[in-house]
Amino acid sequence: MRVTDPAAVLALIWKHFSPLGAEKAALAEAGGRYLSSAVTAAEDIPGFDRSTVDGYAVYARDSFGAQEGLPAVFGCAGEVLMGEAAISLERGRCRLVHTGGALPEGADAVIMLEDTEVMGTEVHAFRQVAPGENVIRKGEDLRRGETALPRGRLLRAPELGLLASLGVTAVEVHRRPVMGLLSTGDELVPFETPVLPPGRIRDSNSTALAYLAKQAGAQVIGGGILADSFDHFLEKSRALLEEVDFLVLSGGSSVGTRDFTARTMAALGKPGLLAEGIAVQPGKPTLLADCDGKPVLGLPGHPVSALVVFSIFGAAMLRRLSGGEMPLFQPAVRAVLARNIASRPGRTDYVRVRLEQGESAVKAVPIFGRSGMLRTLAAADGVVVVPPAKEGLAAGETVDVYLWE
Ligand code: AMP
Ligand code: MG
Repeated sequence: MRVTDPAAVLALIWKHFSPLGAEKAALAEAGGRYLSSAVTAAEDIPGFDRSTVDGYAVYARDSFGAQEGLPAVFGCAGEVLMGEAAISLERGRCRLVHTGGALPEGADAVIMLEDTEVMGTEVHAFRQVAPGENVIRKGEDLRRGETALPRGRLLRAPELGLLASLGVTAVEVHRRPVMGLLSTGDELVPFETPVLPPGRIRDSNSTALAYLAKQAGAQVIGGGILADSFDHFLEKSRALLEEVDFLVLSGGSSVGTRDFTARTMAALGKPGLLAEGIAVQPGKPTLLADCDGKPVLGLPGHPVSALVVFSIFGAAMLRRLSGGEMPLFQPAVRAVLARNIASRPGRTDYVRVRLEQGESAVKAVPIFGRSGMLRTLAAADGVVVVPPAKEGLAAGETVDVYLWE
């Protein structure tokens, strides 16, 4: 078996597959998607000079020399109301302005309220301000004509806020991937089956994988359960592949039956299989194929393996199709390992851990169990990665824990 290392699998995904076509999405529906073209600012942000504090707008030079015991004295010309356009200001005078209010014409700084005192119709300032102090200039955040957001950018809350502030109502984003999902195995029955016939188990992967896929931005079409026969595999896979951008087959990868999934993937299109086995634990018997331009992922049926593998490689595929960049790093929680972890060199191990609050640090407590046991995954907060070069990790080491959400 040609076993591929995980980084090489990610490279294969980015090399063989491309982001899906573009479509327009209303801003309210665009969160979590990737821009298919850059957005250019059609306006300056802010659109006018604004105060960044509550205080008095002045000509900065009128404040020069002001200090405790020797205030600069201004005649107060009134207040700038929020939402009001900039109004004029004469030399030697000041105007009360609120955070975000328009700087009066001619004024170039704002003295903070706490540095002033009102004496009748006059305002005494006990601190001098430099030109531009406590002011954000028109276009300082973003200038008209500049790229507000580049192509490929994930639209999170800050991006959506920025676009809304520019008055953008719709954006060009990559189409949301449609993922087909098939579970395979003669032993499987639909999870809704109330009473299990002897020897049967419920298909748990379809439900769990569909959730992971939705979290990664896909629309999922469940194709149900396939009986273990090559003809059945091929017919059902071919039909579902027509309808989707990405097909996932769960199961059929253990010795004896593995031929079905691999043979099916090889028969679905050219060039066919790209990876037969990934050097990871759990999840080694994982298959990746390019079937006439569409990706097909063959997951091991073991529920834990299926979820771990999908959360890495399935999610990466969905990210690629959605228009995202290859992830450079994953957000993680730092924790101190509570027990030794043994690992075989030459493969990447994903070890399930539970997080506990220790006295001085967060502790990562490994959960041991057979790879098929979903309960061990349900008890885990995340996984610790043991890289291929290592023979394990020692208790007391600081590790990164990649969280399960
Ligand atoms: P396989 O990869 O088909 O050899 O399956 C490996 C193990 O995972 C077997 O014990 C299967 O019964 C189990 N399994 C396969 N598919 C599923 C599924 N969809 N839901 C739950 N368990 C499964
Ligand atoms: Mg099977």
